[in-house]
Parts: sequence; structure tokens; C-alpha cells
Amino acid sequence: MPFNSLGLAEEIVRAVREQGYTTPTPIQTQAIPAVLAGGDLLAGAQTGTGKTAGFTLPILHRLAARTAATAGASRPIRALILTPTRELAAQVEESVRVYGKYLKLTSAVVFGGVGFNPQIKLLKHGVDILVATPGRLLDHMQQGTVDLTRIEILVLDEADRMLDMGFIRDIRRVLAVLPPKRQNLLFSATFSDDIKALAESLLDAPAVIEV
Ligand code: AMP
Repeated sequence: MPFNSLGLAEEIVRAVREQGYTTPTPIQTQAIPAVLAGGDLLAGAQTGTGKTAGFTLPILHRLAARTAATAGASRPIRALILTPTRELAAQVEESVRVYGKYLKLTSAVVFGGVGFNPQIKLLKHGVDILVATPGRLLDHMQQGTVDLTRIEILVLDEADRMLDMGFIRDIRRVLAVLPPKRQNLLFSATFSDDIKALAESLLDAPAVIEV
């Protein structure tokens, strides 16, 4: 099945093609239509399967298809992607940029171990898609430098690693400030009881895919 038969906007397919990808991977073939349909998703996928494009492509499509509910200068963050490490956060945001290069959407990444001020500046600029590690995101929440009240789509990427790293309390605190009506995507390589409990409390009638 070629990329252009998944229902993605032509601008996105073009950016994907420029990366040299002609055929979606199995996780992409399953995840992209499921995310485009707007429901929650529980995906079992290892790294290296193409899972990043599996969620970034349909998120870009959905955000581009509908402009933000609020007009005016205060451009809300509409998609939040949480990852366990700064390396992964940076990689995911790079993917968002690459695949979204023909769209008018903005993205930013925040993670710990670097200064706050450049991140605060970025966040003030107006960001559609924010990629973050949980600890630094919580710091920004506590300092009042990020507004997550307009999030339409939440992704927990490598959720099992985030739990292994002790991020569950931070994640719960982030979840507590998000608007209740949103689309939730949970990606995990393994399914421990903790992941199952998180999925149970987070996801509403999710599509379930495993590759
Ligand atoms: P990920 O599992 O998201 O970390 O992706 C693993 C690698 O596969 C990355 O280097 C991607 O650039 C690459 N990739 C993603 N989608 C495709 C595709 N449809 N065809 C070939 N390579 C891909």
C-alpha cells in the first residue's frame, strides 16, 4: 500500500516522499488511519518500527485540517508529545519539523539539563505541537510558562520507559491539567501491569494495534 492511500494531506505525503519513504511500515499502516479517525489508540511498538511517523503524520494532518479553536494572538498548544529522554524528544520534534515542512504549524521541544529561558521564549512564540520530557514540562507548568489547557491530542511515547524512569507521578500531574475532551495515544514496547493500569485510566475505547 502506498503512502498516498492512507488519507494524509498531499503536503504531508510529499514531505514523507522527500525522505525517500514510499511504503508505510506495518505500524504506520495501522496507526495512521486509526489516529485520523480521531479515537484513542493503544499501540505496542518497539523503536525502529517507524512508530514516530505513525503518530506524527496523522497528528500533523488533524491539526492542519482544523485551525485552533481560539483565534487571535494567543496561539494555544494543541498537541503534546511526552517522551522519556531528551534524545528521543529532540528526535521526535525533528520528525515533526521534517514531515510538517509544507504545513503552517509550529513545534518546540523542552527537556531538562539545559537553560529555561530559551525554552520560555520558544513557548511564548506560539507553538502548535510541543514535545517534552515530563520533568521539565512539570517545571514549566509550575512556573506558569506553559499553558496546556487547549491540548487536543496527547501522545505518551515509549510509555514503558517513562514508567521505568519513575515519571508516573509527573505524568499524572500533567494529565490533571489537560482538558478532558482530547485524543490520547499510548505507545509502549511492553505491557506490564503498570502500563495496563495507565492505559485503562487514560484511554477511552482505544483502537489496539500491535506489531
Ligand atoms: P522509529 O521507529 O520511529 O524510531 O523509526 C525508525 C527509522 O525508520 C527512522 O530512522 C525513520 O526515519 C525510518 N522510517 C520511518 N518510516 C519509514 C518508512 N515508511 N519507510 C522507511 N523508513 C522509515
